[in-house]
Amino acid sequence: MNIVSRITNLQLKHPFKIARRATDAYRQVISVEIDGGIGETAPARFYSETVETVSVALETIAPTLPNNLDAIHDVMATVETLIGGNYAAKSAIDMALHDRLGKKIGVPLYQLWGLNPQKTPCTSFTIGLDEPEVMAEKVRNAEAYPILKIKLGTPRDIEIIATLRGVTDKPIYVDANTAWTPKEAVRKIRELAEHGVELIEQPTKPNDLAGLKFVRDNSELPIIADESVKRASDIPALAECVDGINIKLVKCGGLLEAHRIIHVARAHGLLVMIGCMIESSLGITAAAHLTPLVDYADLDGNLLITNDPYTGVTLNNGKLILPEHPGIGVM
Ligand code: MG
Repeated sequence: MNIVSRITNLQLKHPFKIARRATDAYRQVISVEIDGGIGETAPARFYSETVETVSVALETIAPTLPNNLDAIHDVMATVETLIGGNYAAKSAIDMALHDRLGKKIGVPLYQLWGLNPQKTPCTSFTIGLDEPEVMAEKVRNAEAYPILKIKLGTPRDIEIIATLRGVTDKPIYVDANTAWTPKEAVRKIRELAEHGVELIEQPTKPNDLAGLKFVRDNSELPIIADESVKRASDIPALAECVDGINIKLVKCGGLLEAHRIIHVARAHGLLVMIGCMIESSLGITAAAHLTPLVDYADLDGNLLITNDPYTGVTLNNGKLILPEHPGIGVM
């Protein structure tokens, strides 16, 4: 089966900075087409994937795809036996197969899965790291978005939140992107709670589960794991260490695995967030179809770029509105 792939440079509205890295002018994504279905992936170096590794993986996988692409579970199981890791590449394939099947049957993805499109949450809107005053200006410009996710992980974290609280009383999520030590996290979270922060994402190192558990046991805010969790099989070991998990399609390998993660997380009593990378409306809309199943959505990657090749999911006062066209439903 042929996989047609294309690399696109998504231009950023602003340079985007988190605790461990900065992205300047653009971010590369790969879109794929398989028998009329389309998908996209935004590989991350943090997970050892690049557009080059994705291209090589796609070339390896393409000749092995069966003629019957309808049985997506079987196709993805075959791909999994063929090549380990490479979840960003697998995510693009999985997404294209879902789009293809939805188009073939003539229903949007949420309907294919029996989900209620009214039950989508509001997405948060991310403010990258910068000088406190610059971040405050970005918050003022984010008037359209009712929930903010603030990137932290600097010596000035509390100063930043205090400055932002001077310009907004909106709900705030904080993402430290692994930057804090466990003790530092407990101390900072206590102060952040006083500033009305609602949850904390990935305070400490990804593999330090004891550190995460220490933070969770000594903090009043929900602790959500992001970098610590990629696949459903990561969840049992994490379940006593955090309150919730953040799913990303490019981390886990696509929509099938995302469903598995949601169900395994729920079985362990965890909260579920679905997040994203900097992606076009193709990747963001595919993830948005899952949001009737989650507690928190952080699907704003398409809002941070200037040259989105697609239109798909839209927002109404921050609430995700799913397109009704078949498949992912982007135009
Ligand atoms: Mg995160």
